[in-house]
Amino acid sequence: MIPAEIIKLKRDGNELSREQIYNFITGYLDKSIPEYQMSALLMAIYFSGMTDAETNALVEIMLNSGKRVDFSHQTAYVADKHSTGGVGDKVSIILAPLMAATGISIPMLSGRSLGHTGGTLDKLETIPGFKVDIEIAEFRQQVDDIGIAMIGQTKEICPADRRMYSLRDVTGTVESIPLICGSIMSKKIAEGIKGLVLDVKTGNGAFMKNIDDAHDLGNTLCKIGRAFGVDTDAVYSSMEQPLGNNAGLWCEVQEAIQCLVGNGPEDTMKVTFELGAKLLLQAGLAKSKSAAIALQNELIANNKAYNKFLEMVEYQGGNPVDIENYQKLHNPKYIREIKCNNSGYVQSMDAYKIGIVLVELGGGRKKTSDIIDPSTGIKFFKKIGDKVDGGDVLFQLFNSDEKKLKSAESLLNDCIIVGNQKMSHQLILD
Ligand code: URA
Repeated sequence: MIPAEIIKLKRDGNELSREQIYNFITGYLDKSIPEYQMSALLMAIYFSGMTDAETNALVEIMLNSGKRVDFSHQTAYVADKHSTGGVGDKVSIILAPLMAATGISIPMLSGRSLGHTGGTLDKLETIPGFKVDIEIAEFRQQVDDIGIAMIGQTKEICPADRRMYSLRDVTGTVESIPLICGSIMSKKIAEGIKGLVLDVKTGNGAFMKNIDDAHDLGNTLCKIGRAFGVDTDAVYSSMEQPLGNNAGLWCEVQEAIQCLVGNGPEDTMKVTFELGAKLLLQAGLAKSKSAAIALQNELIANNKAYNKFLEMVEYQGGNPVDIENYQKLHNPKYIREIKCNNSGYVQSMDAYKIGIVLVELGGGRKKTSDIIDPSTGIKFFKKIGDKVDGGDVLFQLFNSDEKKLKSAESLLNDCIIVGNQKMSHQLILD
């Protein structure tokens, strides 16, 4: 196999055979194919796309690049949730313990920040001592013991995604339906789950900017899931503005804790409950969507979801006391407020740019070796449809690196548009 020939075939819009994809990925993993050639192939796939047959082959090859976890011994419904990527999206940190509190087993493999979007793993790692690099045997034991584990791709699970994901992040090759499908579905199928719910994001802060592309992505993901024997449903949710009142690292963990104790922002709870309802219906633990939502409300009100989160934190090496005293940790050294110059209503927000500002602040990576700053974040005081008066605070930016804060600050100026008309925002889409 000559790697450059495969790159040229894809560049010119041809269909690759399973063998060609297999040889390329295997060569990349054993390092006989260098990063620059994989980068070139990723870019060719980005521009030329992949047929269904190629996408299925990609998922299967990425999946079989590592081990698969076996939960066939479990009597509980084993399921997971995944988001296609957003800004301020801390739903996994809320939904995973909430679902585990219903009796569903949740073996969750999460990703790091990607492009302008945040990563659950990076957020969880801000919990002091919390281990996300766990071997399969330990991961499996944890799910058997407490019904939940949230970890990253270990060397054993989907090593192909582990490497391709970080390469895509820094080579402008994230927003590609086959690459997103390969990445998400290989990880999810490797978990040994029976059910999956996908939060397919759409809007300026998502990888899919319009609902038609989001439907394409959602349908392809669901088709792949079912082809691999995983009952897969999708929820379509808006990323026209960040989710919740905070986007960043530790500030998102804080907001997830608030959600788990019943003080979460309405939009974040709505997306969480929509996704949870799909899993509860799949598992046969609720007979209707309204019953599923009532059950989730109950598990928040009686602290069972929060206690499950604490149990997981402790099992993975964190200290529940840090969670209880979350205000004391990762306090940013620098905080800036951005105020509104005029009065009216918030018409729109640029969630994509807000995601880029977060990277600039130190909350994401510009190159794979970048270390992220846990204190980084943006707090939103106004969202679409809210009334604002001149002088009102729109955002608070914070981190622990003054130079980065200064360069990020100027980028935020036109991230929010204020006008006379009161706008509405549809969070859940059909
Ligand atoms: N989430 C993933 O795990 N992979 C992608 O490619 C996009 C979102």
